[in-house]
Amino acid sequence: MSAPEKPPAMTAEGETLMPPSNTTIAYPCGDDLPAPGQWIEVASGVFWLRFPLPFALDHINLYVIDDGDGWTLVDTGVSSAESVALWQGLLRNQLASKPINRLLVTHWHPDHIGMAGWLADQTAAPLWITRTEWLMARMTRAEETSAFAAPAIAYFQRLGLSDQKRHDLTRLGDHYGSLTTPIPTEFIRLKAGTDITLGGSRWQVLIGRGHAPEHACLYSPERNLIIGGDILLPRISPIVGIWPAEPEEDALSDFLTSLQDIRAAVDPAALVLPSHNRPYTGVHTRIDDLTAHHDERLQTTRQACRQPVSAAAVTKVLFPRLEDAFQLRLGLAETVAHLNHQRARGHINRSLDADGIYRYQTVTPKV
Ligand SMILES: [Zn+2]
Repeated sequence: MSAPEKPPAMTAEGETLMPPSNTTIAYPCGDDLPAPGQWIEVASGVFWLRFPLPFALDHINLYVIDDGDGWTLVDTGVSSAESVALWQGLLRNQLASKPINRLLVTHWHPDHIGMAGWLADQTAAPLWITRTEWLMARMTRAEETSAFAAPAIAYFQRLGLSDQKRHDLTRLGDHYGSLTTPIPTEFIRLKAGTDITLGGSRWQVLIGRGHAPEHACLYSPERNLIIGGDILLPRISPIVGIWPAEPEEDALSDFLTSLQDIRAAVDPAALVLPSHNRPYTGVHTRIDDLTAHHDERLQTTRQACRQPVSAAAVTKVLFPRLEDAFQLRLGLAETVAHLNHQRARGHINRSLDADGIYRYQTVTPKV
């Protein structure tokens, strides 16, 4: 008999720690991690950097590609004094000999785009990003508020949060502005299905959806390398959430479908360069694990809805160990993603009760 698995825990940045998997992936770069301000060459002309993050998930991986006549930076770190000091050191030392050709950003989250404005100012390098990610970043900075807007409060109410929890959540506000430098006003568009040249090789732009709307992954078949960003993480699954602006969305379907698209495009032996933890091989295995993880969570969601229950009650089943309002916000978002996915597939029904709260109930198959 196997020991019961621990329930997944949510890190402060919102990635869920997955239960141990039966399948394996390999870490061909070994156990070494880049020291602050140093890099490790993980493939010819491709360098791995690790920057600190002020979250429970305490680091992000950035990559630098040697273009011959300059450098491409992949992701930029969160805006902080530490990030500034690290970039200043790199620009003075390892990167000093050649210009920065481009700032390539996988998606709009602050640990990825945070320093892009500062770097653009320092280096005059253009920002390369997908259109939706640029729009999300620009809009979120422009709209930043110290508290949630009324529609978001109504949304949390319909999900069944108690007055106290709703109060805690609405006081969280939004820190996007303090975690990012001003987003460049101009960009070069990364577009699905197109190729770009980096480091003398062709790279295909593959889109991962659901974690962010149009997250760019870049795959070079000739180098057998894929920049996976937050979509292809080796140890944790990226948060796939439903947020107040799109309450009826099925983000999990977007995520799972795009994972299959990436699986079909990428060689199983490709080296994956992820945004957290270490570079690894076994991308097909990893995608299968991520898919199985969500299948399991969907099953738990169905079981939790045998009687009509609120989304807040299902969140307690899926994430029993949430520690603060920030984690609750993320846990709730991921729970609604699973509920909406089951609703889209006709497995769960939702009703709006007289108390203004949605109740979810599993559809019993007809015999
Ligand atoms: Zn992210």
